[in-house]
Amino acid sequence: MNPWFGKILVLFGIVSTVAIRAPHGRRHGKIKIVENRMGSLEIGLLTLMWITMMILPILAIFTPVFSFADYGLYPIPFAIGVVCLTAGLWLFYRSHADLGENWSVSLEIHDGHKLVTHGVYERIRHPMYTANFLQAVAQAFLLDNWIAGPSCFVAFLLLFTLRVGAEEGMMMEKFGEEYARYKSGTKSLIPYIW
Ligand code: SAH
Repeated sequence: MNPWFGKILVLFGIVSTVAIRAPHGRRHGKIKIVENRMGSLEIGLLTLMWITMMILPILAIFTPVFSFADYGLYPIPFAIGVVCLTAGLWLFYRSHADLGENWSVSLEIHDGHKLVTHGVYERIRHPMYTANFLQAVAQAFLLDNWIAGPSCFVAFLLLFTLRVGAEEGMMMEKFGEEYARYKSGTKSLIPYIW
């Protein structure tokens, strides 16, 4: 297959991700933050996600720096990539919409922070991370490059394993019994499974 089919979808994914997040970022600027746990690990992980999700794909698509690692695009990986990208973008959109004013890019508690347990948060506690996972898998299948393709998946694994414990600890401190009940009735990333 022409590798540009995959590359154009990866670019579409980047533009859509930025467009979905932009209004939430603007609104977040006006919200009063009560507690912020943005440490150096957190900054490093978010920077790594940004580099592997945006910068490396753009370099691989528009410059020859990673061309030695290109391998070609095939129909089955392409189809898997399209399904993951579609599901990932939908879930990225829905999780932002359901979290609303409670959303933040780093670990924060806001003035009037409410525990969200409806919509895509009803059965899983981390739908936004599920969306990031699907987007990273899509990138790995759609971008036919051994470096830029899977890079975001590696960054996601690091972000998820190093962040989720701290995030749940923070939520438990803030919401106590309410969060414990929510946790016991939900899974982390995949409804009914995990
Ligand atoms: N881990 C979640 C949210 C990521 S955004 C997901 O993957 O969907 C990170 C911020 O969202 C955290 O700082 C926390 O303050 C907030 N948050 C996470 N889960 C929440 C919930 N169920 N209700 C309200 N706020 C939540």
